[in-house]
Amino acid sequence: MPFSACRDVLARVSDILDGEAGLPARLRFHGHLAMCDRCRDYYRQFRDVRAAAGVVLPEDVPADFDEVMGAVLRATQKSSVDQVGRPTRAPGHRRR
Ligand SMILES: [Zn+2]
Repeated sequence: MPFSACRDVLARVSDILDGEAGLPARLRFHGHLAMCDRCRDYYRQFRDVRAAAGVVLPEDVPADFDEVMGAVLRATQKSSVDQVGRPTRAPGHRRR
């Protein structure tokens, strides 16, 4: 499970949104979000709050954002298919 990385990932949220993180850091960040519902939810909330505050606007999203996310999603989907022969859902259905 990738959850030991959550703290590290969430610590980078500001850098990611500010565009100060390099491509490797962003790939790792979005790769983690693809596997981790908690961080994905947190990232969306954080981004929405920042957007509402006028700090990050939609046009501030890096031009290669879709490219990066596409590469991450293809990589994670491919590995899921390879392991079990058909696509699986991310292990994010956690109860407390
Ligand atoms: Zn996480």
